[in-house]
Amino acid sequence: MEKTLVVLKPDAISRGLTGDVIKRFERAGLKIVGAKMHMVSREAAEKHYPDNRIEFLKGMGQKTLENYEKMGVDPVKELGTKDTLEIGKMIREWLIDYITSGPVIALVLEAPHAVELVRKICGHTLPLMSPPGTIRGDFAYDSSYLANTAKRAIKNLIHTSGSIEEAEFEVNLWFKPHELVSYERVEEKIMR
Ligand code: ADP
Ligand code: MG
Repeated sequence: MEKTLVVLKPDAISRGLTGDVIKRFERAGLKIVGAKMHMVSREAAEKHYPDNRIEFLKGMGQKTLENYEKMGVDPVKELGTKDTLEIGKMIREWLIDYITSGPVIALVLEAPHAVELVRKICGHTLPLMSPPGTIRGDFAYDSSYLANTAKRAIKNLIHTSGSIEEAEFEVNLWFKPHELVSYERVEEKIMR
């Protein structure tokens, strides 16, 4: 059994997609064990995207470089650097602006292999690389080029924890133990 964090970002709320998004997790058997809607403060956003997570920052930079290469865009011309860490730090600032730009809905979902399952249902970071059938593939239409030239984060509707370690850190950051509930879904009865 794993718990993972899902955050419906401000674009999912303002586009009225909350029901469509949550339905996909529920029908896959993911149990909602925590839920809240609020405005994220700048301090909380900075903790959620810590500036000392070098691998996370480089990862975002790397995805950007790969995408630019595919599109034939020069990263130095566009962003002033081709250093993955520098690009990652730049994106982190845009990300904090994005996640604090409107209300979000945070969920803790529980199931066997919840972290990986939620990532599959969510799709790839870049909407173009998310196949139809995934949340981002079906609903997000932003592109990294469009986002980067406008100096903003890609609006890809949701955040989902990227690994078991990230999920543990993020669930504890967003929810206090008493805000999580425990109950049984019918799937669990059938599997016994
Ligand atoms: P994921 O959300 O798929 O786990 P990351 O953790 O790598 O992806 O990145 C966090 C968020 O940063 C993404 O969901 C997206 O909103 C934004 N982002 C990532 N890469 C870029 C990029 N190249 N340009 C703009 N925004 C980006
Ligand atoms: Mg991530």
